[in-house]
Amino acid sequence: MARGIAIGRAVLVASSRVDVAHYFIDAGQVLSEIDRVRLARNVVVDEIHRLQGTIAQMGPKEAPHELAALLDVHLMLLQDEDLIVGVKHWISDRLYNAEWALTTQLEVIARQFDEMEDQYLRERKADVEQITERVLRAMKGAVAPFAPAKQARGARKTSQQDLLLDDTVDVPLVLVAHDLSPNDMLQFKQSVFAGFITDVGGRTSHTAIVARSMDIPAVVGARLASQLVRQDDWVIIDGDAGVMIVDPSPIILAEYGFKQRQGELERTRLSRLRHTPAITLDGQKIELLANIEMPEDAAGAVEAGAVGVGLFRSEFLFMGRLGNLPDEEEQYQAYRRAVEGMHGLPVTIRTVDIGADKPLEKSGDRTYRDDAHLNPALGLRAIRWSLADPSMFLTQLRAILRSALHGQVNLLVPMLAHGSEIRQTLSLLDHARAELDNRGVAYGPLRLGAMIEIPAAALTLKLFLKYFDFLSIGTNDLIQYTLAIDRADESVAHLYDPLHPAVLYLVAHTIAECNAQGKGVSVCGEMAGDTSLTRLLLGMGLRSFSMHPAQILAVKQEVLRADTGKLKMWAERVMLEDEPAFLLAGN
Ligand code: PEP
Ligand code: MG
Repeated sequence: MARGIAIGRAVLVASSRVDVAHYFIDAGQVLSEIDRVRLARNVVVDEIHRLQGTIAQMGPKEAPHELAALLDVHLMLLQDEDLIVGVKHWISDRLYNAEWALTTQLEVIARQFDEMEDQYLRERKADVEQITERVLRAMKGAVAPFAPAKQARGARKTSQQDLLLDDTVDVPLVLVAHDLSPNDMLQFKQSVFAGFITDVGGRTSHTAIVARSMDIPAVVGARLASQLVRQDDWVIIDGDAGVMIVDPSPIILAEYGFKQRQGELERTRLSRLRHTPAITLDGQKIELLANIEMPEDAAGAVEAGAVGVGLFRSEFLFMGRLGNLPDEEEQYQAYRRAVEGMHGLPVTIRTVDIGADKPLEKSGDRTYRDDAHLNPALGLRAIRWSLADPSMFLTQLRAILRSALHGQVNLLVPMLAHGSEIRQTLSLLDHARAELDNRGVAYGPLRLGAMIEIPAAALTLKLFLKYFDFLSIGTNDLIQYTLAIDRADESVAHLYDPLHPAVLYLVAHTIAECNAQGKGVSVCGEMAGDTSLTRLLLGMGLRSFSMHPAQILAVKQEVLRADTGKLKMWAERVMLEDEPAFLLAGN
């Protein structure tokens, strides 16, 4: 879940339509926007008339009767009052752009079809979807008047009083979808939405992680939400508790409005800690680093007081590209922007972690989950994927090496488990250097790090410590693989437990080994940004945490109140417990 509270009206978006533009128009554009839909609809109507004409000249063999009937249905649907009136409503009353209005009304009508008893009528939903698709396509063909996105209204904090008073255009919006890919989520970064709800996904699925990085309240894995919520329903998202409330009563609304304001006050209070060094009561200096997805996130990391980037998930540069992957120069420029954006602070770039819930789309294919493989989380993922495609990997390594000319860069390798993988990776790194040497291209030094996110790696640290300068514990995957819980599967999300004794053992053991050998160690999974775990990790000896910038100040507050000497003994007790969560809750 991504924390905080959002209150707004639901906007249901079908997963296949998340790439439809969502922006607000100015009141003066209402008529031209309605005109855009009307013109596009007329284009489709003409198209169908033309087809009908052609069919009329064919025999029943080439043009079966069903085809003519289908075209009649499509014509009828295009002239349907509900569609026309609805689209006009979303444009003129809510100031949605034309495409958004059309898909919103499609969702309303589709829901009505779903509820029909008659199977024939229920199946007409597919026809509505088809004609919407055609109208959208016609709109793409027509030159759309340029309408820059207005300020993200949803992101503006609106008091509950405002909500009750102004119930029409100026209210926050909450996006409700069955499934959003991490990349789709990223596309919404600059969007109008104040919160997100998806049916599918676990707490540390990458979709949830991106929502958290956007610092927008979200509930990921709400199962039937997209079926139960209707377009335009009032919805409260409580990202802290991981719950959503639909159609709240005025009392509930008032209570959550109050909580929301409390949250805002807390943020203001925390913002005063920005320049305070993260030092514990007993004088231990703690490193608080940022996790980023895009080079542009570096600014937010600096703003939040991060002392570096502990995890740059470089795969986001590769996603949403429909097979057109970034070349060396494009990657180099992106890494360089991140490095320069950190103004001399270190940046840890992780090589691509593609696969599982972050598959690469093939050209023209927007499918999100990798259903082609039986167990994608156990399949060709991260370093396995990179080693299976050495030319792509070498391109990335060369780009990262070059970016190291512009600041301190650490290279982090995900999902290693085998000695052979380590040796192959290091040999490809040498190869990348040699290629740059041959071309006469300059590059800088790298510190080398490995992610510890497979139990086998945590249990064979000697091997890793031999080759690497530092280790970074990826608790999101470490938990998934230790407990055999798919982190992206909401049906087992209740079993995904960072406090399972086995997980705690592996984390504590990794920290202790690195500390004993004087090697750097950090945690870059979601555990690092969870304030309820800060003291425990400090007690285990952790001194470097990497998290979303939005969580840094809250974690810093925990650090400032901590005494690591006392926490060490307490953490040892917690780890001896059968149910560590009980002891943690009681402290
Ligand atoms: C992790 O597994 O904890 C991690 C930080 O990597 P990701 O979430 O991208 O898999
Ligand atoms: Mg991982």
